[in-house]
Formats: sequence, C-alpha cells, structure tokens
Amino acid sequence: MLTEEQRLIRETARKFAQQELLPKAAEIDETEGFYPEQFKKMGRLGLLGITVPEKWGGTGADVLSATLVMEEFGRVCASTALSYLAHSILCVHNLAVNTSDEQRAKYLPALISGEKIGGMAMTEPGAGSDSLGMRLKAEKKGDSYLLNGEKTFITNGPVGETFVVYARTGSQRTNLTSFIVEKGFEGFSVGKKIHKLGMRGSPTSELIFKDCKVSAQNIVGKEGGGVPMMMNTLDVERTTIAGISLGIAQAALEQSLKYSSERKQFEEPIIEFQMIQKMIADMHTELEAARALVYATARKLDRKERATRESSAAKLYASEMATRAGNWAIQIFGGYGYTREFPVERYWRDAKLMEIGAGTSEVQRKIIVRELREKGIGASVAE
Ligand SMILES: Cc1cc2nc3c(=O)[nH]c(=O)nc-3n(C[C@H](O)[C@H](O)[C@H](O)COP(=O)(O)OP(=O)(O)OC[C@H]3O[C@@H](n4cnc5c(N)ncnc54)[C@H](O)[C@@H]3O)c2cc1C
Repeated sequence: MLTEEQRLIRETARKFAQQELLPKAAEIDETEGFYPEQFKKMGRLGLLGITVPEKWGGTGADVLSATLVMEEFGRVCASTALSYLAHSILCVHNLAVNTSDEQRAKYLPALISGEKIGGMAMTEPGAGSDSLGMRLKAEKKGDSYLLNGEKTFITNGPVGETFVVYARTGSQRTNLTSFIVEKGFEGFSVGKKIHKLGMRGSPTSELIFKDCKVSAQNIVGKEGGGVPMMMNTLDVERTTIAGISLGIAQAALEQSLKYSSERKQFEEPIIEFQMIQKMIADMHTELEAARALVYATARKLDRKERATRESSAAKLYASEMATRAGNWAIQIFGGYGYTREFPVERYWRDAKLMEIGAGTSEVQRKIIVRELREKGIGASVAE
C-alpha cells in the first residue's frame, strides 16, 4: 500500500501533468518543443529535488515516490518525463548522493528550483553499452583538468546548464572520474541536436569538449572514483525510468478501452470482439505485473537493500511491456491508430526508447544473468 506521503506526491504530479503537460503534449511531440518554465513550476512543487534530503533543500521523498512522478508524467507526456528523469535523477539525485557539502551548496539550489536544467553525460559515439570504453580524456594541469573529447545522446544537452560528465583519467578501463561541468566553461560547447523517432520533446544532443578547463574542485568524489559513483545510482535510475514505461502503458490501456467501447463495426462496439478483448486483457495484465515488479523494486531500494538484479528486471520488463502496449493500442485503433490524430502512435514511438536508454534490453538481460550466476536465485522481490 502506498503511504500518505506517496499518495500526496502522486496527486501533485497527476494534477501538474493534467493541467500543464496534457494540453501541450501533442504539440511538444510535433514541434520538438521544450518549455523551461514547466521545470520552474515543477521546482515550486518540490518535484525537482524529490529524492534529495530536506537538509540540502530537497523534498526528502523515497525512490517509490520518484517512480510515481515518472509514471504520472509518462502517462501524459513521456518526453517531459524523460527530461525530468535526466534532470532530477541522473543529475540532481546523483549530485546529492555523491558530492561534498560545498558542491551541494553551490549546485543544488538552482537545479532544485528549476532555474537551471541538468543532465548526465556518459555515452560517447564509440562507447554506448560499453561505457567503460569511453575516451573523453581529462588531463591534470595544475589545479585544473583539461577535458577533450565528445559525448552523444545527452538528454537535455541543448537546454542544460549543469552536467555530470564522466571522463577518463587513466589508461585502465576503470580509471574514470566524474566532473561537474557548467555550460559557460571555456572549451565546452553543445554539438548537433539529435532528431529522434520518439521522445521528440526531450532535447538530445552531442556535447563537445575542446581543452575544456574544469577546476579540480569540480571533481565529484575523488579522482578515479567515477565507476563506484556510476554504480551508486544505477539501480535508482533504472527503477525510476521504469516508471515512465508504466505511465505510457497506462495511457495506451486507457485510450484503448475508451476507443474500443465507442468504435462500432458490424453494428457493435469493437470491444465485443474477442480478439480485441485479448489485447486489452493482456495489456492490463502485463501492466499490473510490471507495476508490481517496479514498485517492489523501489521499496527494496527504499529499505536501503541492494536491488541490481531487480532493477534491471523491472526496467527490462516494463519497457518491453510498454512497447507491446503501444503496439496493441495502434492495432485496436486500426487506421486511426496509425495517424497523428490520436496519441497512440506517439506512445509506441516513445516506449521504444525505454528499451534502449539507461542500458538496452540486451544489457539488462546480461546483468540479470550475471547476478543470478554470482549470487544465485535468492529471495523474490515480491516477498
Ligand atoms: C533518446 C536518448 C536519450 C539518451 N540519454 C542519455 C543521457 O542522458 N546520457 C547518456 O550518457 N546517455 C544517454 N543515452 C544513450 C544510451 O544510454 C545509449 O544509447 C545506450 O546505452 C546504448 O548505447 P549505443 O546507442 O551506443 O548502442 P550500442 O552499445 O552500440 O548497442 C547496439 C546494439 O548492440 C547490443 N549490444 C551491445 N553490447 C552488447 C552485449 N555485450 N551483448 C549483447 N548485445 C549487446 C545493444 O543492446 C544494441 O542492441 C540516450 C540515448 C537515447 C537514444
């Protein structure tokens, strides 16, 4: 059962999504629009620093609460949900967990209020799934580092002002360090904006580093500490991103139920046809199964237990479930589902990204098997 606080946060996110995101969702997709003022409103509602302890200016809510917000946003506008995830989890949560008090005091207030938008840059043109193969190099020069190389596919790249950037500081694969890079830093620039199949209102771009000078004070943790830092937050990232998949599938189910009850063929609503019923029943059942897995994983993380296998399984199942739900919704809508007059084609395009971002489905399967082999099957997250 959700706690009173979790219900309240979900209600706040639902109200915001209905009032602010729903009227703009189709246009955001069509025009690749992005509205920074929506982030400021989220900031005023306490949603941007959702997992950050109150002593650092956040809301101090748990992982399940953050997942519920993703779900509410994903149900209405998955693009906004993705940009919100990159900001509030990949950047803000990451900084809150891993930085010093001084860095928190310097960077968190503007990110939590929405005055500045954040992102996280790990992926490079030659290093995606193999993130430890990254080549962006940070060389120490006096009390600064010079960063050279490029990142790609960075959510909020074109609009962000504060980025958590992973760079290589040694020749071993694990010699990685995380830096806080601000938009105005010398030698930093935003590269090509990337146009996508879905998630079109979540701006994505390359980031370019040419002798980009970053003070040693902007190292997160210590030099060479990048890998443990990545691992610290990955489970939370995968669990919360699964919330977006739940939201997309919920919207697909709602639209399918409504349309199939209204649309008549052969003089009866198409929901009377058993093959339509199968798609709707399966959509509901899979969504409920995914939701149970995702929420149980979030609760495990909230008990401060390790949930690497569970968060990979939650992310994997929820994302593939959401793509199936989008696909079935298009089928239920027939020709109309294939048009841009109805939102279901958008759900399917947006859902597909969930199988790729934050580690592909193949990578999640690899992690699940690695965990099973190393640690055994163990207890179920449902227990
Ligand atoms: C819209 C969008 C937003 C993103 N946002 C961010 C962001 O904010 N920050 C960030 O750092 N990154 C971001 N990414 C990058 C994303 O995390 C990567 O695209 C993803 O990790 C896959 O990397 P790749 O695209 O290089 O594919 P590749 O790694 O080249 O994979 C290609 C194919 O090979 C498969 N494959 C690779 N290795 C294996 C293996 N060992 N076993 C089996 N199959 C394998 C993959 O599963 C995939 O099917 C984003 C991507 C997109 C599309």
